[in-house]
Amino acid sequence: MNKHLRGSIFSQASYIGAHLPMNVTTLPKPPRVGLVSLGCPKNLVDSERIMTKLRAEGYDMSPDYAGADVVLVNTCGFLDSAKEESLEAIGEAIAENGRVVVTGCMGKEAEVIRERFPNVLAITGAHQYEEVVAAVHEAAPPIPSPFIDLVPEAGLKLTPRHYSYLKISEGCNHRCAFCIIPHLRGDLVSRRPDAILREAEKLIAAGTRELLVISQDTSAYGVDIRHKAWPWKGEEVRAHMTDLSRELGKLGAWVRLHYVYPYPHVDNIMPLMAEGLVLPYLDIPFQHASPSVLRAMRRPANDAKVLQRIRSWREQVPDLAIRSSFVVGFPGETDEDVAYLLAWLEEAQLDRVGAFKFEPVEGAPATSMDDQVPEDIKQERFEKVMALSARISAEKLQRKVGSMIDVLIDAVDEETGGATGRSKADAPEIDGEVHLRDAGELKPGDIVSVQVEDADEHDLFGVPA
Ligand code: SF4
Repeated sequence: MNKHLRGSIFSQASYIGAHLPMNVTTLPKPPRVGLVSLGCPKNLVDSERIMTKLRAEGYDMSPDYAGADVVLVNTCGFLDSAKEESLEAIGEAIAENGRVVVTGCMGKEAEVIRERFPNVLAITGAHQYEEVVAAVHEAAPPIPSPFIDLVPEAGLKLTPRHYSYLKISEGCNHRCAFCIIPHLRGDLVSRRPDAILREAEKLIAAGTRELLVISQDTSAYGVDIRHKAWPWKGEEVRAHMTDLSRELGKLGAWVRLHYVYPYPHVDNIMPLMAEGLVLPYLDIPFQHASPSVLRAMRRPANDAKVLQRIRSWREQVPDLAIRSSFVVGFPGETDEDVAYLLAWLEEAQLDRVGAFKFEPVEGAPATSMDDQVPEDIKQERFEKVMALSARISAEKLQRKVGSMIDVLIDAVDEETGGATGRSKADAPEIDGEVHLRDAGELKPGDIVSVQVEDADEHDLFGVPA
């Protein structure tokens, strides 16, 4: 008799469609996963999430060891006795089936597991759904089926096919005084670089021409997993912004980096931009320039030498576009702080600037700070920053008139024969656009060479060359 899995939540499962009508198409037999779920209800919910994902991908569940192509053991490590039970469960799964993936709390003690069971196929920690599912894919690859695969391989997208956001981490280790994101989303949790690169490959295969790398703090990517390296295409890639950017760049799409804090290692991205692997574009949310406001805001990478670094970046990458956002009216901000900010902006010559008036958010420390700035003063300061940035932007765009630039087409108007797109200096939604005439034969996703004919404060106007 087949031995049932201990703690299995599928041993009583009955399957819909057990009695199929005659003459139906015979589908290939899907791979089967056995699950041993130990520990508390939180672990059980994790097991449910993993199994829901695997079922949606066409995997079947096996109530016994013998029928499983791979056995997943979701462990508990809360007490020594729970650890021992987890190790016993792994041992039983190895003895009865042999192909075992371990996940859950004991994933933190991978060396203990490996020492006792060197044949375990993969070990991942609690809540690492993506990693567990990737390990199951490797152990028992899913069978592609047009009857099951309602979701395209690249996933469902809310953006147009030709550009895609690529999230590399969740959460944030900083505690800026105006922000509640760490409270809502927790500390930094970075994705594995190989999982990100696989996702990027799928997106590109499905038509993406531009990858927009996003996170709360892109420069901090991998800090939480100590920049661990994973195998990728016969080599190793570290969970580090520089390595990830380089590998993404090799995939052939435009790679645009958002939410980059100016830590020293951002300097290492410049050679990648100079080589053309990463777009000459940096989205750095400076938020202010005055040292006292930045201190009060508790901003990360609050480096007084940032202007010097911007100069040095531009020497290496002359067409580097920098976009940033600034908050005016933060509690305690004085007229001198605003004058400092305006002088700084004049010096920094940023390409794109978004300004915001400070808004108190429930739960953020800044909300209860003394010296809140009255709304009319906030408005005045906001207008000063916007007027200055509009002037700088207009001057910089004017200098592009007469030049040739690459433009990624976003939309074509068949009636007028015009098209709208973006240059390497423009991210979708937040930056300017390039408006083209005589471009009716183009289609969204095309990248074309454009002669710039005119410019205003935010946009360029031109014609395909
Ligand atoms: S504003 Fe500060 S705390 Fe909030 S997500 Fe950004 S870096 Fe983290």
